[in-house]
Amino acid sequence: MLNWIKFLGTGGGRVVVFRQLRQSGGMWLRFSGVNILIDPGPGSLIRIFENGLEPKDLNVVILSHRHLDHSSDINAVLESATESTKKPIDLLVAPKDALEGEEPVLLKYLRKGIKDIVYLDEKTDVSYKNLEIKGIIKHIHRGADTYGINITDDKSSFVYVPCGKFFDDMLSAYPANADIMVFNTTFVKPRGNVQHLSAEDVKKMVSHLKPKKAVITHFSVEMLKANPKSVAEDIQKETKVPTIAAEDNMKLIFS
Ligand SMILES: [Zn+2]
Ligand SMILES: [Zn+2]
Repeated sequence: MLNWIKFLGTGGGRVVVFRQLRQSGGMWLRFSGVNILIDPGPGSLIRIFENGLEPKDLNVVILSHRHLDHSSDINAVLESATESTKKPIDLLVAPKDALEGEEPVLLKYLRKGIKDIVYLDEKTDVSYKNLEIKGIIKHIHRGADTYGINITDDKSSFVYVPCGKFFDDMLSAYPANADIMVFNTTFVKPRGNVQHLSAEDVKKMVSHLKPKKAVITHFSVEMLKANPKSVAEDIQKETKVPTIAAEDNMKLIFS
C-alpha cells in the first residue's frame, strides 16, 4: 500500500529550477515500506536531509529522463545512500540514454553501488519486493527519452506523468482509476512549440483517466504567477477529481 509521498521540490521551468524559485529535489515515496526516490534534481540530497529522511534507507531510485532538473543530484544521492558504493542500493530504473548515451548523467564508478540497473522504456515491468514498476508511453520531449511511470502493489496504484507535449495516445496508454496521478504541469496554457504539459492537457487526462486524486507540480514562472493553487482548483472544478498543487516539502499521507 502507498504510505506517503514527500515532495522534495516542485520547480520545473528553467528559470524556476536554476534560480531556485522553487526547490527541485524530486519526490520520495514510501510504498509498501519500500523507499523510492524519483527524479533527484538540483538540491535533492540537501532536501532529503532537511526533511529528516535518510539516503541510506533508499531501496530504489528512478529517473523519468536525463534532463538536469530531474537527474543532476543522482550522483550525490547515490554516493550518500551507498556510503561511497560500499553498501549498494537495490535498484536503479532509468532510460538507457540517461546511462549509456552521449552524455550519461550517472558517473561510472557509482555503478558498483547499484545491485540492479533496469532500463526504463514502454515495456519495462520490473518486480521489486511486492511492488511492480512499469514504464508507460514514451513522451514527446526534446533531448531526452522520457517515459511515464506506474508503481503498484495489490492495493494501490501511483502514476507519474513526467514532462512532455500532450498527445492523444497518452489518454489510452496511462492506466485509469489510479489512487494518485502526479502531473508535471509546467504551463497553464499549451505552448505549441514547447514540449511540456499544461493545465489544459492535465484536465483532459484527469477527466478521461479518473484518478482518485491528482497533483500538479514542476511549475514554470508563468504557472507561479498564475498561482498553482487556483490552477489546481480550476482543474478540480472541471474534472470533479480532487486536485492539489504540490508545495515544496509537502507530504501526502495515504496510510
Ligand atoms: Zn523537467
Ligand atoms: Zn525534461
